[in-house]
Amino acid sequence: MAVLAGIVALLVATPAFAIDAAVTSLYGGEAIACSKLKFRYPQYTFFPGTSGYAYETRTSYWSATTFSSPACVFVPQDVQQVSYAVTTITLTLSKFAVRGGGHMPIPGYNGIDGSGILLSSSNLTALSLSPDKSTVSVGPGNRWRDVYGYLKPSDLAAVGGRVGHVGVPGLLLGGGISFYSSQYGFASDNVVKYQCVLSSGLVVEATATNAYSDLFWALRGGGNSFCIVTRFDLKTVPSSKVWIGIAQFGQSQAAGHLDGVYNFGKYGAPSDPKAAIIPTVLTFPASNLTIYVAAKFYDSQTDSPNAFENFTAPKLTPVAESYSLQPLSDYVASTDALQPLGLRQEFRTLSSIVHRDAVQIIHDTFLSGVNLKLSTVKNLQASFTFQPVTKDFLSHSAKTGGNPQGIDITKAPYFWIVENWTWTEASDDTLVRTAADQITADINQLLQARSFNAQYLYMNDAGKGQPVFQSYPAANLRKLKAIRTKYDPFKIYTNLLPGGWKVDNA
Ligand SMILES: Cc1cc2nc3c(=O)[nH]c(=O)nc-3n(C[C@H](O)[C@H](O)[C@H](O)COP(=O)(O)OP(=O)(O)OC[C@H]3O[C@@H](n4cnc5c(N)ncnc54)[C@H](O)[C@@H]3O)c2cc1C
Repeated sequence: MAVLAGIVALLVATPAFAIDAAVTSLYGGEAIACSKLKFRYPQYTFFPGTSGYAYETRTSYWSATTFSSPACVFVPQDVQQVSYAVTTITLTLSKFAVRGGGHMPIPGYNGIDGSGILLSSSNLTALSLSPDKSTVSVGPGNRWRDVYGYLKPSDLAAVGGRVGHVGVPGLLLGGGISFYSSQYGFASDNVVKYQCVLSSGLVVEATATNAYSDLFWALRGGGNSFCIVTRFDLKTVPSSKVWIGIAQFGQSQAAGHLDGVYNFGKYGAPSDPKAAIIPTVLTFPASNLTIYVAAKFYDSQTDSPNAFENFTAPKLTPVAESYSLQPLSDYVASTDALQPLGLRQEFRTLSSIVHRDAVQIIHDTFLSGVNLKLSTVKNLQASFTFQPVTKDFLSHSAKTGGNPQGIDITKAPYFWIVENWTWTEASDDTLVRTAADQITADINQLLQARSFNAQYLYMNDAGKGQPVFQSYPAANLRKLKAIRTKYDPFKIYTNLLPGGWKVDNA
């Protein structure tokens, strides 16, 4: 403590940059940065052993594999405090991590060990509707349930996540698949302005047409290599009540479910942009049980008689069904519990064109791989979800300023698939991750052999090591790298902020 107190006194009395390099090499930059933050913002800087630290490093995460143990946590209250933190961290050459809603299940991507500082968005929870109600300003500490709950009294919603406790910033920086995507594109296609802190500490606002339009484009799917976003201005969409709910099917209905998935992806979604589904197959190897579900969404107060005919009697009668007319915010609040926090989680992503045989290959290869390789894993639940992506979905970005994903519309519709493994014991981590890689490679190989594979890999559903940016058009990746160099010439958000998908590493 005496050493720290001495350092703090020194920092206060001396021009920052002059002393930082010397003291950093002696004591480690993160200790200096933490003491500076604590000195200036004592109530917003947490050290190990405090309840604030425990909340920020554990409770706020979705996957237990990403719990973090930073030297300290800083929880800024506004953009100026974010800027101060960035400058402090940079001048002390400290490493750091940035966390939004904490849902990216990749260790080290939204947290850091004792060699760094965690910058948490928890208190950046501002929400405000523009006077004409066409846009909503959202701080990065919000989760999608907060956004929908805030907009509900105005009969509005936003193009955002489909699970309430998912964070706003991570979803938007990777693109964002929404129930509304066939109507309005990626969630990020509906951002009209970003406020963010450059690595110099400068606060800028980026729009499609101002001096920062290149940064605006990069943030629509380029991840966290460019700046720390402190506010997203999102277009609102009309939404009082929608038809929404989950239909569940038994193991004996597998073929009917997969037929329904294919038909919806090929014909249903392209013909009616108001309709969306999240069809998922969940398997529990220990119980020898596989269940088939489909979350169904229809953006109207009047249900469509045929949008979901393949998931409805007489074609396929659910064993349980909760589809009803309700506000979107009520649905996301009531379904949050289906994705509990604090278990161990792993994602992988794949993409394919829409073909019935591709659906079967993915289904059969995933289930046989899980049963063969992971039957010993305690409390294992494994699932895969087909996310239908239509030409309408992909056509929106060009109308609103473009995005770096650059997905080939000509080959749409697609399925973007997310695989998810959930388990409880750290001792099974390596086994699960190795199997996840192998199962994904096996599926890809079979899809490729039939030319069913598609190029794009969705960042927010990807597992560590998947070549996400390499799946973007090469020219877009080059442009992303040039924009990164322009706004962060010293690679602060690449080298000092090592966690996350980095354009420079692709
Ligand atoms: C249960 C569940 C449901 C999901 N549902 C959907 C869905 O419906 N649609 C969809 O598209 N995706 C969905 N996803 C994927 C989701 O989009 C990603 O996990 C996303 O990263 C979550 O954002 P977050 O803020 O919670 O993430 P975090 O883990 O906090 O952050 C993700 C990345 O963004 C960076 N970051 C966070 N905040 C900032 C900031 N302010 N500035 C710069 N960088 C920042 C972090 O450093 C990190 O690298 C879901 C995931 C889960 C686990």
